[in-house]
Amino acid sequence: MVRSLQRSASVGLHLQCVRGDDVSAAKGRKAIIVGSTGDQVRANLLRLRTVRRLSTVKLSAKLREAGRPIPPSGITRIEKGERRVDVDDLLALAQTLQVPYAQLIEPPPPCPSCQGAPPIGFSCNECGASA
Ligand SMILES: [Zn+2]
Repeated sequence: MVRSLQRSASVGLHLQCVRGDDVSAAKGRKAIIVGSTGDQVRANLLRLRTVRRLSTVKLSAKLREAGRPIPPSGITRIEKGERRVDVDDLLALAQTLQVPYAQLIEPPPPCPSCQGAPPIGFSCNECGASA
């Protein structure tokens, strides 16, 4: 059990290393290795922030009020997979976006409004998907 968990974790790590290396080569930063859960958090953050029409500046201000400040540039870097989200960040983001923290970790359920496929040229107000 433990061994199989370790193995799958290292596979995920290996796959994401390639991406981390790419990011670091592009930005000249130390490689950040974002795993599959981190990648889901990243995508959910971007989606929820878009749906709530919160700029990175507004979200940053709300995080500061919540006692866990992340600068707007930090939010952008999280959304690009260039910065990790630690547990305290995750809970502050969930509180600020008014969702259960699990909603930041798990893949989103199919959108009841657009089924994930809004008409071409439109974006869904419910889930933020665009076509
Ligand atoms: Zn939708």
